[in-house]
Amino acid sequence: MTRAHNFNAGPAALPLDVLEKAQQEMVNFNNTGMSVMELSHRSKEYEEVHNEAISLLKELLQVPNNYEVLLLQGGASLQFPMIPMNFSPKDKTANYVLTGSWSEKALKEAKKLGETRIGASSSDSNYTYIPDADTIETEADDAYVHITSNNTIFGTQWQDFQLNTNAPLIADMSSDILSRPVPVERFSLIYAGAQKNLGPSGVTVVIVKKELLETAETNIPTLLSYNTHVDKNSLYHTPPTFAIYMLKNVLQWVKENGGASGMEKRNQEKASLLYDVIDNSNGFYKGHAEKDSRSIMNVTFNLATDELNKAFLDEAKKAGFVGLNGHRSVGGCRASIYNAVSVESCKALQEFMIDFQQKHQ
Ligand code: PMP
Repeated sequence: MTRAHNFNAGPAALPLDVLEKAQQEMVNFNNTGMSVMELSHRSKEYEEVHNEAISLLKELLQVPNNYEVLLLQGGASLQFPMIPMNFSPKDKTANYVLTGSWSEKALKEAKKLGETRIGASSSDSNYTYIPDADTIETEADDAYVHITSNNTIFGTQWQDFQLNTNAPLIADMSSDILSRPVPVERFSLIYAGAQKNLGPSGVTVVIVKKELLETAETNIPTLLSYNTHVDKNSLYHTPPTFAIYMLKNVLQWVKENGGASGMEKRNQEKASLLYDVIDNSNGFYKGHAEKDSRSIMNVTFNLATDELNKAFLDEAKKAGFVGLNGHRSVGGCRASIYNAVSVESCKALQEFMIDFQQKHQ
């Protein structure tokens, strides 16, 4: 069996062990005589899967006790309006730091629901960097400060979270959750769609501080209130049971492979393989992100001309590399190297890039 070198931006590569386990358990999960998908979400067997996923998230991300972990639907995109609906009261202003298209989309939804301000933005350079913490403008009436920890499209990533604010800090970690240890206690809310580092699409992880939940707006639709899901352990309505089962298995794989710090070590090794080629290419490959803002999840680069970009992508495809096209708003190439992408795939891409340069420069 050949598995592709999968550099998809999301949905993305999953660990082979996890897929094979799902295959083995597909038609008879845990001697129930049925698949996980066929179990009642109120059954003891499903509840164990559900609670194990939540407890592994708490363990691997070292979530303090004064936080709730929720498993929701609607993708990260539904978090964009849910956050201001719940946490941006009329007398306050929601503060967004713009570092890419996903922060812009988060802001767009917040604007429809209340007052907003932009604390900082790197749009002037087509999002090649993360603004310095001391340039981010915060105000006493900030409802919260919203950041995007990893910018999937532009390939930039926050390196630390030393923002100067007393307002609740909220982060979209969709494309780097569990890729490295993060100080969860620094945040009031973290959210992430699962389909990059955590599992298949269909489930969104939310980690939220109880103190913030106490301030939540109550006069909003039931399903859009975080407290509804807190009160029912994310079982208010039918959860995406199979996605959560896969999430649990991916989390077990992360645990077996060194947890968040094990992932960070591997991800840094993988990212270095590719950034080294870019840096040693004498400008043949040009990285989109400034060096000190580079992402260890999405490596974005361009070749000198559209023709060369196209030739690179065509040859890469023929050589068995999948998903290397840059996002349409940046162009060029992007290698997404989430947790489950192997060091071997990155080494193979490194060699391909070196060979391609030798042939075409
Ligand atoms: N935020 C970020 C940083 C993303 O990368 C994505 C998806 N690529 C989203 C939000 C949107 O996620 P979803 O498709 O789950 O709504």
